[in-house]
Amino acid sequence: MTLSDGVRTISHWSDGKGFAGTSGNTAPVTNPATGAVSGAVALASVEDARAVIAAATAAFPAWRDSSIAKRTTVIFKFRELLNERKEELAAIITAEHGKVLSDALGEVSRGQEVVEFACGIAHLLKGGMTENASTNVDVASIRQPVGPVGIISPFNFPAMVPMWFFPVAIAAGNTVILKPSEKDPSAAIWMAELWAEAGLPAGVFNVLQGDKTAVDELLTNPAIKAISFVGSTPIAQYVYATGTAHGKRVQALGGAKNHAIVLPDADLDLAADAMVNAGFGSAGERCMAISALVAVGDIADELVGKIAERTRGLKTGDGTKDSDMGPLVTKAHRDKVASYVDAGEAAGATIVVDGRDVRADGGSDGFWLGPTLIDNVTTDMSVYTDEIFGPVLSVVRVDSYEEALDLINSGPFGNGTAIFTNDGGAARRFQNEVEVGMVGINVPIPVPTAYYSFGGWKNSLFGDTHAHGAEGVHFFTRGKVVTSRWLDPSHGGINLGFPQNN
Ligand code: NAD
Repeated sequence: MTLSDGVRTISHWSDGKGFAGTSGNTAPVTNPATGAVSGAVALASVEDARAVIAAATAAFPAWRDSSIAKRTTVIFKFRELLNERKEELAAIITAEHGKVLSDALGEVSRGQEVVEFACGIAHLLKGGMTENASTNVDVASIRQPVGPVGIISPFNFPAMVPMWFFPVAIAAGNTVILKPSEKDPSAAIWMAELWAEAGLPAGVFNVLQGDKTAVDELLTNPAIKAISFVGSTPIAQYVYATGTAHGKRVQALGGAKNHAIVLPDADLDLAADAMVNAGFGSAGERCMAISALVAVGDIADELVGKIAERTRGLKTGDGTKDSDMGPLVTKAHRDKVASYVDAGEAAGATIVVDGRDVRADGGSDGFWLGPTLIDNVTTDMSVYTDEIFGPVLSVVRVDSYEEALDLINSGPFGNGTAIFTNDGGAARRFQNEVEVGMVGINVPIPVPTAYYSFGGWKNSLFGDTHAHGAEGVHFFTRGKVVTSRWLDPSHGGINLGFPQNN
């Protein structure tokens, strides 16, 4: 990062150092709590992207061949530095994303879990070996890195989402180009500097700032072997189609509309707490946020009352102050989310708590929208059908578990879901029947720990490999099987038949 003309310029990171690029194009970065422009992020040209890709390509052979012991040493060091200095990263996130500091710190900690998982790469890369598969013939399987890989991340988790991928990719011997969201690009540069401090060789971790131009070069450039993408469904679909058409393996995680079912026997105080946390945490800008509450049976009035009471007690304001919820990421996004509330009201839904008239503890030009609770939502309303990605919790009332399940299974997304009940049989049936990748039972945001894999179903993920855990290691490596014969290779003469075991 450099200072020019009084505005902070946020540039690329290539070959172990900052790289300004030559495009001359920038986009403004704002502090959502004040509305002030805090920086200008470089937007890469095709040439800039190629320069960064060239750095990652040049660094690959040496990093691929470095010992697992050496790679692990660097990752342990990165983990130590991150742990010591995570407050710095959290402050950068809050300044550009807007989420409250405690939430930003939580994001960093969840990312750090994946770094810790990657510290165990020696175990994760162990192959298999079969002696005497045929007489005097051994068969071994090994996994090798794929090459330079691209990671394209969304605005809502500028540190955690990249950390779902790059620790595993780097530990497995790949080189990385991270293309962060242009809305909050500074966290990526901070992490690049931390890698350098940890002793990672230049060119192994690079940051390419930009928009569609940068993404398209990553998707089409033959040097890039794999793409991990997280963002909205239309772009995920585009990234998957384009990347695979260019011969790359692609995992593209998309949008969500997560439902929580509350059964009549549930503990309603626990469920109400959970709905408030999962509906309004990070201003609803989480892919695992609960945006649709499905109240089953005659508990709806009582449950909505409990949620409303809690919601009214939330403090919306600047994330650096003592707030529960921060602003939305941009003014345009704030206005779009508010327009969904308008549409729900016009369609006949009941606005129980209205965030449009919030008095926030923050700048008068901040992008404020308070937590909003909408009851009597029906499935034809846009507030229900669309991913709103804001602090808006819709309540849909149904009569039975079957009706609730059908709502989820007939929807286009399948990222996360939760059920609240004290009935083990009902919970077990739900986990078996629901068509969603991540399921919570009395847990509202069931984000898997790092040693499991994160990913949704249907329009929430294109590709067949989830993030981190065993699937992440699989994604960033390719298998090779070696069949060998040593010692007294009995010469059987020429035989053009297919080899048979004997
Ligand atoms: P987005 O799709 O607008 O952007 C994601 C990335 O794609 C960014 O780096 C952006 O620069 C790039 N991009 C945007 N438009 C592009 C285009 N036309 N061509 C090529 N690249 C393009 O998403 P966002 O608004 O930053 O993030 C919010 C979305 O991400 C939500 O839909 C949310 O559900 C989703 N998300 C999903 C998960 C998950 O795990 N499934 C996690 C976090 C966020």
